This record gives sequence, C-alpha cells and structure tokens, in this order.
Amino acid sequence: MPPQQPQQRRGTTARSEEARALERARDLPNSRTATDVDTLRRAFADHLQYSQGKDEHTATALDRYFAVAYSVRDRMMRRWIQTQQAYYKQDAKRVYYLSLEFLMGKALENNLLNVGLYDGMRSALSDLGLDLADLLSQEPDAGLGNGGLGRLAACFLDSLATLSIPAYGYGIRYEFGIFDQEIRNGYQVERPEEWLRFGSAWEIPRPDATVPVSIYGRTEHYVDEKGKLRVRWVDARHVLGMPYDVPIAGFGNSTVNTLRLWRARASQELDLADFNAGDYLSAVEDKDLSENISKVLYPNDLTVMGKELRLQQQYFFVCCSIHDIVNRHLKMHDGFGSFPDKVAIQMNDTHPAIAVAELMRVLVDEQGLEWDEAWEIARATFGYTNHTLMPEALERWSVDLFGRVLPRHLEIVYEINRRFIDGVRAERKADDGAISRMSVIEEGPTKQVRMANLAVVGSHSVNGVAALHTELLKRELFRDFHALWPEKFNNKTNGVTPRRWLLQANPGLAKSITEVIGPEWLTDATQLRRLEPLAEDAGFRRLFRSVKRDNKARLAEIVRAENGITLDLDSIFDVQVKRIHEYKRQLLDVLRVASEYLRLKEDRSYDPYPRTYLFGGKAAPGYAMAKWIIKLVNSVADVVNHDVDVKGRVTVAFLRNYRVSLAERIFPAAEVSEQISTAGKEASGTGNMKFALNGALTIGTLDGANVEIREEVGAENFFLFGLTVEQVAALKKRGYDPWEWYRNDRRIKQVLDALASGVFSPGEPGLFRPIVDSLLNGGDPYLVLADFAAYCACQEEVEKAYRDPEHWTRMAILNVARTGKFSSDRTIREYAEEIWNVPPVRVG
Ligand SMILES: *Cc1c(COP(=O)(O)O)cnc(C)c1O
Repeated sequence: MPPQQPQQRRGTTARSEEARALERARDLPNSRTATDVDTLRRAFADHLQYSQGKDEHTATALDRYFAVAYSVRDRMMRRWIQTQQAYYKQDAKRVYYLSLEFLMGKALENNLLNVGLYDGMRSALSDLGLDLADLLSQEPDAGLGNGGLGRLAACFLDSLATLSIPAYGYGIRYEFGIFDQEIRNGYQVERPEEWLRFGSAWEIPRPDATVPVSIYGRTEHYVDEKGKLRVRWVDARHVLGMPYDVPIAGFGNSTVNTLRLWRARASQELDLADFNAGDYLSAVEDKDLSENISKVLYPNDLTVMGKELRLQQQYFFVCCSIHDIVNRHLKMHDGFGSFPDKVAIQMNDTHPAIAVAELMRVLVDEQGLEWDEAWEIARATFGYTNHTLMPEALERWSVDLFGRVLPRHLEIVYEINRRFIDGVRAERKADDGAISRMSVIEEGPTKQVRMANLAVVGSHSVNGVAALHTELLKRELFRDFHALWPEKFNNKTNGVTPRRWLLQANPGLAKSITEVIGPEWLTDATQLRRLEPLAEDAGFRRLFRSVKRDNKARLAEIVRAENGITLDLDSIFDVQVKRIHEYKRQLLDVLRVASEYLRLKEDRSYDPYPRTYLFGGKAAPGYAMAKWIIKLVNSVADVVNHDVDVKGRVTVAFLRNYRVSLAERIFPAAEVSEQISTAGKEASGTGNMKFALNGALTIGTLDGANVEIREEVGAENFFLFGLTVEQVAALKKRGYDPWEWYRNDRRIKQVLDALASGVFSPGEPGLFRPIVDSLLNGGDPYLVLADFAAYCACQEEVEKAYRDPEHWTRMAILNVARTGKFSSDRTIREYAEEIWNVPPVRVG
C-alpha cells in the first residue's frame, strides 16, 4: 500500500486561492498563447516536438497539421472555459440541440477564421517554408451525417456561437461516419471511413462525466414508503456513455460553445460478474456488443431502416443528453419549477423523439414529480423540427421491439397517449377518425409507435424548414394536429453559415466583396444587398468573372486528378450535387444530357454552348434505384466524353465521394445550380442556398426554399420550370400515365429507347432496363417525364442567357447580393426569439 496522501481541504478557501493563483499564472506577460506571428511559430515548433515527438526530418504533413491544430486549440481554451463560466455565473437559459447527425467537415480552417488566427498562422508557417493549405488538406472530414439534415446542424452550431447564444449540440461520436464512396466500373462501392484512425485534434474526452444507460429488462410496479405508486426498471443491461467535447468557436466574438458527442463504453459492473465466473471471453464479447452502439452512422438519408441497433443509438444518446441536462440544472436549482425557463431542447427530426418519454421517466420515476407537473415541464421544454413529408422517412417502431428495448418508455408512451386522447375526447376537439390518425400508437396487425406524433404531442413548437414545407405540413401530414393546436406550428426557413460557405470556401469572392462593402456582411448577411449597384459596374463584373474562372480552374484540377477528364474552363459549369434520391430527380438531369448527346449525333448543325455537367452524391447502400442512377451518369459520361463527334460541346463527370470538403470546392465553381425536385418533395434544401450565395444561377422547380430564393433574387434572375404542387396533385388525381408522355414527346421516346437498347451500355444492352421500367411501367412516381419538356425548354433559356456574359454576370451578382436571408444566423435568431426564448450572453 502506498502511504496515504494527507487529505487536502477542498473548501471554498482552497478553491479561491487556487483560482487567484491560476489567474496570476495565466496573466503572465508573453503568455504562451499570445497570437503574434512569433509566438504562433513557437507554438507550432513546441507542439511538433512535445505533442508529436517529431523534428523537421521525421515530421510528416499530418504531424505538422496536428501541431497547427493544437496551437489553434490552445488559443480557444481560455475562451471556452470563460464561456462556460459566463453561462454558469449568469445562470443563463441554455439551448440543447439534439441531433443524431452533425456533418461538420474539417475544423481547422474554420477555427482559424472564426478566432481570427488565419493570417497570423499562415505567415508563421510560410516563414518555415510551409504552406498552410497543404496542412489543412491533411485533416479528415468529420462526416457524422448523411446530407442536408446533418449539415444544417453543423451550420446551426456555427451561428449559435457567433450569435453568443448559450448552446450545446448533443450527438453520437460515431467511430465510422458516412462511408467513403468509390466508383468502380461506374458503380458505387462503399468503404468504411476511419476518420479517427490518427485521432482527432479537437475532441476532449471527459471520462469524469460518464453516464450510465439502461436498456432491455422489465418494469416493476411498487408502493413506496409514502404509499405512492411507483415504477422501477429492473434486470436491465447497462452501457456507459462517455462524452467527447468539441469546441465550437463563434466568428468575431469570444464565445466557444460545446458539441458533446457520446461514445458507448462497456459497463464495468457487468463485466465483473462474468470475470468472476471465470468466463473471460464472453465478458469481452459482451463489451464489444455494448460498444457497437456508437460504432457506425446509419447511411440512409430520408428512409428508415427499423433496426434494433438504431433504436439503441437513439435512446443511448437521448438518455446521456437528458441526464447531462438535468444534472446541469440541478447544480444551480433545487427543483424543476424553473426548468423550462432555463432549458430549451430542440429535436432535429424525430430521431431524438424518445427524449419526450425519457424526460418524463427521469422526472416521474427518478425525481418523484407528479405526472401532470412533469408533463407541463416536458411540453414547455421541447421543440420539434420536421424535415420531410416523405412517407418512407416517417419513423415508426413496432410496439414489440420498442417494449423489448425500452420497457418503461413503452408504458410512458402509452400513458402519454391515453391522457392525450382522453383530453381531446373530453373537450370534443376531434372526431374518431382524427383521433386515430393523431394517436401515438398506430393500431393494426402490428402495432407501431409513431415517433412524429410523439414529438408533436410532447412539444410546444413544431416547425417546418421552408415556407412551402410548413404550409404542406399543416395541410397534409399534421392536418389534424394543426386543427387542434394551430398555435404550435411555425416556420423556420433553413439557412447556411456564410463563414464556411462564402468566406472559407470562396476566399476570392469574399475578398472582392469585403473590398467594396466592408466586412459587416460576415455577421449580417443582409449587408450583401449593398452589392446590388455593383451589378451595373463593368469593372466589378470583370473581377467577379475572373474569380469564378479561378474557382472553376481549382475544381478542374480535382476532376483531372480524380476522373482523368480535362474540363473546358470556358464551358458552362452545370452542377447537381446532393444525396442521390429519385425525388431529387438526378434522372431528369442525366436523361436530358443523354438526349442532348443523341441530338448532337443526329443533327450535325446543332451547336449548343459548350457545357460541363457535374454530378455528385452518395446513394444509400440498400437503395437500388439510386445506385442505378449513379451507374447511368457514369455510363453516359463514358460514352459522351469519348465520342469525338461531340468533343468540346458536352462533358460529363461524376465526382466521387461528395462531402463537405469537396462541396467547398464545388459551390464556388458552379454557374448553374440544379434544384429540380418534384414540387412538394424537397422540404427546404440548403445546397440551393450555397450555390446562390456563390453566384450560381438556379434552374429549379417551385419546391422547398427555391420558392423563397426566387422571391429574394427576383423571378428574372431565376430559371423556373415544372409542375407546381397543385399541378402535381391534379395530374396524379386525374391518373398520370407516363406512356402518354413517351408516345407524344419525340425526345423522351428517343432517349428512353436509346437507354433500353444499350446505347449507353455497350456490350450490356439490357443494363438500364430497371430505370426505363420504373419510368414507364413503375408509374414514374416523381413525374420525370411530365416535367421533361419544360426542363429542356428552360435549359435553352439558360443557354441563351449565358451567351450574354455581361447579362449573366449581372444576374449572378444579384444572386449573391440578395441571398442574405439564407444565412443560418437569421434562422437561429428566429429560433432563439420565437421558439426558445433564449437571449445571448456576451463573453469577454
Ligand atoms: C449542403 C449539403 C447537402 C445538402 O444538399 P441539398 O442539395 O440541400 O440536398 C448535402 N451534403 C453536403 C456535403 C452538403 O454540403
């Protein structure tokens, strides 16, 4: 036994002594975290030596990246601690953003820019003969999300910190994020993305804040010592949630918020029993099983898989987060009376909707509150954001599975539902049909828990993500709920952060903008309006075009390296990048490209303006039709790019592994933004906003936020085509027969016949039969053929406009100038004021 250390008194006196001494130590002159170029260089050298253990001979680019990242992180630490102290001291109301996805991308460049170290670090490194850009590229993307929903959460974190709002993101620290997409022989191949292989410079593990989580088992009802009926959860399996904290720096302020990601760890207690029984191997196996919970992100965008592990993931991160939130509250407050005045929890889609039942369980079973009191608190605390109307995205769990994994929560859900329905019946606020549609439990051969209904019933606010989407929510999906509680529903049109998507991604354009209107646009994007007059300035237009050309050249380098294709920088860069989904209609785009090719082949006098069609996006691994679409794009590219007859007129490339860091190269280089979803299907879109902010003109349908983008930039600066929501509904009601369009439109017949006969699959004539079949015999559910002619006509307008470069540039500049509304700062300000009631807390 080592000798016992004398017990130190850790009372207030000792603490404040420690605080004073720490203060003095930190305030020494020549602080080692100063931000002058010399100290930054010293920091880099120190980290290379002390953190990486390398010298100039042995250091790799990755070592140097880590040395820079740690130097930046050091300079965020003080602010991070001060921010948390400020929230604590002011007993500020906090926002908790619960999301199963955070599609963060790389962090270093964003952190350099947000904390104002970019220029200093670049010169510090250039004195050492190092290029900052080379080191930035070493960082792997944090791809903890599928697409728009996850990227929205990342943009929101940036805006929350920039607006000085006391906020925390809560999610899962997946060991494997979204898969790495390779293309082999034109087909998508998925490979695991080991983003943590070399460790992350940004996460700080907090084993001291580990949370125990129960799953499975059963419930026991008993009478407590006061004679009260209580419930306990017994015979459960146990897992631990260990938090990893990531700092989120605001731009141009001293706020550093926290993104807390939970990792599943095996529970020690559980292992011990097996070890004692001498069964070492099964104890280790068990450990593996529980740690599987945070292993991998489900790669499905907008479709549910209904897998048990997914339900475990949802509950795991919700349980850890609610525990954390309640603990933090109880540190400062005796009970729960003020809980909704101090806590706002936003649920990003229904993925965290079990939080409603979990908070009820904690308040009623663990904290001993009465049901009614707990319910009022829960409802006042939660807000729910809906992200889609697509029926395949609506989460439902079979009562069987739900009750097996979460026996106590199933009881709570039933109780919530019983009281909800009793209340509605008693007040005669809905008929039986409406009640059965609103019920949290779907009756039928296999009973289901409807997570969206749980989220609506358990929240004081339900929002859609664009004006049109919110209207459709009220009219269709949540029609009955809207009739019951109209005041609950509101719209929060999505946005994107102008720091990452303009300042970081497009430094050339950002610099030109700042030179003419100053830097205020960075935190007030409506200032971009002051660019409007510059649209009439020939000199600015020339500058704008030269920046776009440089960006096209940078993207062309990637395409040459990845695809072996040389792009014509004078051609129109026409881009569709987003997850591959039938409703997004990549098929409409590629069928038209194929049709252009056929027209060029048959009509030698046809002379379209040279165009480069770029596609990118991942298909869910189990989504066969999405994978066929990728194969088709690659096959069309092969045929078109190698045909000397059309050389220089049409070029096609599929950019593999579309992700945040690639998106940062694509948007600034794009000239035409393809936003062509079937009207009523895209809830908002955010890619559409990033394109417009970077001066691409949209060709699009009246869907999602396209509607509002068009209102902002002006109808004359937007290429609109296609059926409206009403026309889509009318056509389907009348009975849509795609064969009619096939027979009556020569171009449709020509391109589908070519597909079916193997023109684009030499040697494999029947290859694209599944695509042709889904359009003609599968009913063409997304109306590709019905919108084809309008789309082709609109693309001719695009071409005509592009032939007048001065006119095109005017329109492009006006798009940049008029998209300030789509800053996520505006979105977050609306959430903070209208849903959360959370004021900012200035730090430093
Ligand atoms: C913005 C973004 C999305 C969302 O694009 P949509 O066109 O709105 O679907 C998806 N993935 C990445 C990497 C993005 O940056």
